[in-house]
Amino acid sequence: MLDKNDRTLWELIDHILSLSLVRKGLISTLYDSICNITPHSLQDVRRLWENDLGAEMADDQREAVLKLIHSSSPCARHSLIQLKIALRAHLTKAKLAKIFPSMDPACPRCKGQPADYIHMFWSCPRLNTFWANIFNAYSIMFQKNIAPNPLCVLFGCTPEIRGLKGKAGAIIAFTSLIARQLILLFWKKNSPPNFPRWIRDTMHFLTLEKIRYTLKGYLQEFERSWTPFLEYYKIPVLRLLPLLPSVTPFFLIVLCLILHFILFLVIIIIIIIIIIIIIIILLYYTY
Ligand SMILES: [Zn+2]
Repeated sequence: MLDKNDRTLWELIDHILSLSLVRKGLISTLYDSICNITPHSLQDVRRLWENDLGAEMADDQREAVLKLIHSSSPCARHSLIQLKIALRAHLTKAKLAKIFPSMDPACPRCKGQPADYIHMFWSCPRLNTFWANIFNAYSIMFQKNIAPNPLCVLFGCTPEIRGLKGKAGAIIAFTSLIARQLILLFWKKNSPPNFPRWIRDTMHFLTLEKIRYTLKGYLQEFERSWTPFLEYYKIPVLRLLPLLPSVTPFFLIVLCLILHFILFLVIIIIIIIIIIIIIIILLYYTY
């Protein structure tokens, strides 16, 4: 008989799924197991995340994760997505394969297995470019190197926001949630979501946010909060930057100088052509 103090809910489910169907006394075992199920605590979920992350979560990190469930976005659907992620409620292929043994536990993107929670959101190699581009964008927006990290990828919290301009924490929490939503939209697809789609979806929700702030009379607050992202969006070359491999800020400066030089040459050529035309007209009427 199972002791409820020995197993957490998730371990209990794993245990039940591992039982042989021809085992003697199966019904009694299942009955005892189900009777011993108690509402799982957040400690169980925390321990599972710590196993996945390979490190203990500090109390302040755990509190930040819980707070961000409600504060990342005003949209109830977004909050629900974040709640389900924090509680590991989505059905991964690894979990489904335990329920249905005939099901393939491999990741649909990289074919690696098991396609568990941490793999589907963070460690899948097919997501590397997606997250690298997003964190590259954060680094440009806040002019500080922000490396991809699983805590930010999964929960939207990062300790590197201290001292950054604007509401960096709110921007990262909201936009990383958009990225997680995109991963869920591409959950069963062979291809991962891409960076331009993340930009497009974020701007879509920002349009709604702007309307919300405007209706409340807080338009200036919106612009102050979202300036880093909006400035990033306004300069197309910045948005192209993460899509190019091995690009540095030096490359960006050189690119801007070249573009300005080309624009300067075009203006000079137009002025010379206009002067020549004026001279020809004057000569024509003079003689
Ligand atoms: Zn994968």
